[in-house]
Amino acid sequence: MSDFEGLRALVTGGASGIGRATADLLAARGARVAVLDLDPADVDEPLLAHRADVTDDTSVRAAVERAAEDLGGLDVLVNNAGIGAQGTVEDNDDAEWQRVFDVNVLGMVRTARAALPHLRRSSHAAIVNTCSIAATAGLPRRALYSATKGAVYSLTLAMAADHVREGIRVNCVNPGTVDTPWIGRLLDAAPDPAAERAALEARQPTGRLVSAAEVAGAIAYLAGPLSGATTGTALAVDGGMQGLRLRPV
Ligand code: NAD
Repeated sequence: MSDFEGLRALVTGGASGIGRATADLLAARGARVAVLDLDPADVDEPLLAHRADVTDDTSVRAAVERAAEDLGGLDVLVNNAGIGAQGTVEDNDDAEWQRVFDVNVLGMVRTARAALPHLRRSSHAAIVNTCSIAATAGLPRRALYSATKGAVYSLTLAMAADHVREGIRVNCVNPGTVDTPWIGRLLDAAPDPAAERAALEARQPTGRLVSAAEVAGAIAYLAGPLSGATTGTALAVDGGMQGLRLRPV
C-alpha cells in the first residue's frame, strides 16, 4: 500500500514499541517519517530521528520545528510517548502524579501545540493520540495511569471539536495489553517472567497479547486518507477486552 505517499508524519515515542511499529508502517506505506524520542539511538533510515523530552517545552518546540523543516511540513502527528505507573491513589505521592501527568498528558499538549501551525498548512491533517483502555475500563491498581489516559481521551474529544473546521482530525487508539518492551520490562520484574507472561496471555479474550503492529495498523487507519470522515473517536485495539467487558491484570 502507498496511501501515505507524499504525507509527512511525526511520531513521538517512536523509538520503541507501538511508536516504532507505527513509524515503520507509515514509512512502508509511503510517508516521510520523523521520530521524536528521549532516546532515538536505534532509529535508522529511512526514519529521521530527533532527540527530545516531551516534558520540556523548549526541546519539543525545537524538535518539531526541525522535523517540519526536514520533512517540508507536517500532515500527521502521532502523539504516542508515554510511561506507566502502578498503584492505588495511596501508593503514589504528588510528585509522582505530577511526573506521570507531565509526560502522558502535558507531553501530548506540548507536541500538539508545536505541531498545529504546521498541520494547519496541510490539506490532509490528522492527529492520533495513543490512549489506553485504562481511560474507561476502571482497572485495579492503575489509578494514576488511568487518570492520565482519561485525560488523553477527553483531550482527544476537545481537540477534535476545536480543530474540525480547520480540517484537522483528532482521534485516539485505546490499546489493551500490547507486547512491547514496556510490557517486557514489567514481566522481567516478576519472580517468574515466563509464568507471568503465560498468565497474562491466558487473561486475554484472544489468549494472546496485542502486537505493536496491530496497534500501528489502527493508528495508520486513523491517520490516513481512508478515515477522512472520522474525528473525535477512540478505536479499541485490545483483543476484545473492552467490548467483552473483561479485565486485564
Ligand atoms: P515503550 O516503552 O516501548 O515506548 C515508549 C517510547 O516513549 C520509548 O521509546 C521512550 O523513550 C519514549 N518516551 C518516554 N518518555 C518520553 C519523554 N519524556 N519524551 C520523549 N519520549 C519519551 O512503550 P509502548 O508500550 O510502546 O507505549 C507507547 C504508548 O502506548 C504509551 O503512551 C502507552 O501509555 C501506550 N499504551 C501501551 C500499552 C501496552 O500494553 N504496551 C497499552 C496501552 C497503551
